[in-house]
Amino acid sequence: MANGREPGLDRRRALLELGGLAAGALGAGLAGRTLLGARDAAASSSGPAAVASGLVRCVLTPEQTEGPFYVENALVRRDIREGRRGVPLELRLTVLDVSTCRPIPGAVVDVWHCDAAGVYSGVQGASGTFLRGIQRTNAKGVATFRTIYPGWYPGRTPHIHVKVALGGDVVHTGQLYFPDRVTDAVYRRPPYSRRPGRTTRNGDDWIYRNGGRRSLLRLTRRGAGYVGAIAMGVLRR
Ligand code: FE
Repeated sequence: MANGREPGLDRRRALLELGGLAAGALGAGLAGRTLLGARDAAASSSGPAAVASGLVRCVLTPEQTEGPFYVENALVRRDIREGRRGVPLELRLTVLDVSTCRPIPGAVVDVWHCDAAGVYSGVQGASGTFLRGIQRTNAKGVATFRTIYPGWYPGRTPHIHVKVALGGDVVHTGQLYFPDRVTDAVYRRPPYSRRPGRTTRNGDDWIYRNGGRRSLLRLTRRGAGYVGAIAMGVLRR
């Protein structure tokens, strides 16, 4: 963990959890509905209107390891930057009930990610609580965060960690990703450009390769930055 890599044991656990979720979904009478392996529905559009129009299909968002840098009791706040500089990013994260395809209001969404230099707050000697925060989804099932585009650390493609809880139960642990061509453009700008080139692209990252394609943010330009949107399909426990 000293080098920032996320441990293999967690990968095994994530795979076991994924298997359990898929089996549970089938047992719950969802057989026949495409849960996994469908087209990139969640990445291609998002939001309740998109769900209603059928643009977003109900796809179970893949479970991925929470990694070693989670910190409990992060702050409830929309703006998680704490002065960290970088390309502005607004996250619009929709939580859907995969069994009904409806947005879930009041879900607790917890995000955390590294800064432009690849550093996480509160671990490995770094102070502060920057780039960590919690929001509840609104009536349309959307949680919004103001943050910056994450940097990179060795062995991983850029990502944002996410957990979703309903009624105190964690129903989803995952990671959100960025199209490589957008990351390339962002990393040509300061402060990202002060570091040498990143080590790992999406296709080289073994965690991404386990379903990360279905957790790609849909990015649109806004001002000097981006809006990143995704619909995360979860199963109520
Ligand atoms: Fe990470």
